[in-house]
Amino acid sequence: MKHIVILGATGSIGTNTLDIINRFPDRFQVLGLTAKSSDDKLEKIIRCVKPAVVALSDPKAAAALKRRIASLNVEVLSGEEGVKQVACLPEAELVISAIVGAAGLLPTLSAIKSGKTVALANKEPMVMAGEIIQREAKKRAVPILPIDSEHSAIFQVLNGERHGDIKRIVLTASGGPLLKLSKAMKQKVTKKEALAHPNWKMGPKISIDSATLMNKGLEIIEAKWLFDLPPGKIDVLIHPQSIIHSMVEFIDRSVIAQMGLPDMRVPISYVLNYPERTALPLPSLDLAALGTLSFEAPDFERFPLLTVAYEVLKEGLTLPSVLNAANEVAVSAFLEERICFGDIERVVRQTVDAHLPQKAETIEDVMAADAWARTEGAQVVQQIGSC
Ligand code: NDP
Ligand code: MG
Repeated sequence: MKHIVILGATGSIGTNTLDIINRFPDRFQVLGLTAKSSDDKLEKIIRCVKPAVVALSDPKAAAALKRRIASLNVEVLSGEEGVKQVACLPEAELVISAIVGAAGLLPTLSAIKSGKTVALANKEPMVMAGEIIQREAKKRAVPILPIDSEHSAIFQVLNGERHGDIKRIVLTASGGPLLKLSKAMKQKVTKKEALAHPNWKMGPKISIDSATLMNKGLEIIEAKWLFDLPPGKIDVLIHPQSIIHSMVEFIDRSVIAQMGLPDMRVPISYVLNYPERTALPLPSLDLAALGTLSFEAPDFERFPLLTVAYEVLKEGLTLPSVLNAANEVAVSAFLEERICFGDIERVVRQTVDAHLPQKAETIEDVMAADAWARTEGAQVVQQIGSC
């Protein structure tokens, strides 16, 4: 029996994780769950999986939940400290890190520091503090297993390979719902259009990141830290069907790709069962029925955030943290209809350009850069005015 904690249990990754766990009750036991403020949703999950401890980072929501489940034998914690406590539950073996954004950094780091194996969907902490996270994980020999489909693909391909034999990795990108739109047309895209990802059903933030290709930008930085590769060995390829989840080219020019229908339950099942695999009742990939897989080079002019991400990846220091925070500010402003879709790029670019990079050796350095970028980014949003 594997004892599991799910950080971000009410989200898209959380829901997919619970779907797999609920199919194998003899193999997994949910010990702890967290969310931000979705107390109703969390209550339903609690009644189904009966965890020992839960936490909501929003204290009001935590108090409401506590009242409603008073008759159950479930401890309800509250606030960011409560979330961190759940991340470190002594009996937990595997922590699914599936909070969205920078809010996942401290809980994920707490899980690593308390020696838990971490299955990582929450890419933003890796972008912000990849060096620190890896340092802490190595110190304690804590495995970090990727859930992000591209990184799961590369992780699977690299199984048994020598690191020195990697020539490069290729992260595939569907290109999102706006792949074919010109820059001018993209400016006025509606929230609904930007959220309508063609292949994946995901939370709102990553859906917008996929439409700007910032998601791929975050993923190249995530890949650097997960696989210890320099920027020159990390490429991006547009592949609209999302069947090849990513690939590795080796020094002998052999290329190995990992394929499958786009369904996050597959990489989630992989980390839950790692190093084994388990049978899933999902449809097989039928390449004959699909007929064609297509590829194209990314258009860095139409998707300038990919260029910003490569620049930031090369320069390092506090820049990745600033990139991430500026993007979070811009995406929230767009989702709240305070700026246009095309302004997301502007907020990120201007904030990154205004930053004087500093060393990012401690979590305090990273958090200070994050806070600076949120203030700066908010000012840029203010200057832009309404959409
Ligand atoms: P969702 O928005 O669907 O879910 C986010 C989860 O995090 C919810 O449980 C939410 O709780 C919780 N949360 C949000 N803010 C906070 C906070 N401040 N403190 C504590 N908890 C918080 O996101 P996704 O599931 O789509 O994505 C999660 C992460 O996984 C992201 O980093 C994303 O990039 C990554 N990822 C997602 C994929 C997908 O298919 N969805 C694929 C690959 C990576 P509440 O419901 O209460 O708001
Ligand atoms: Mg991905």
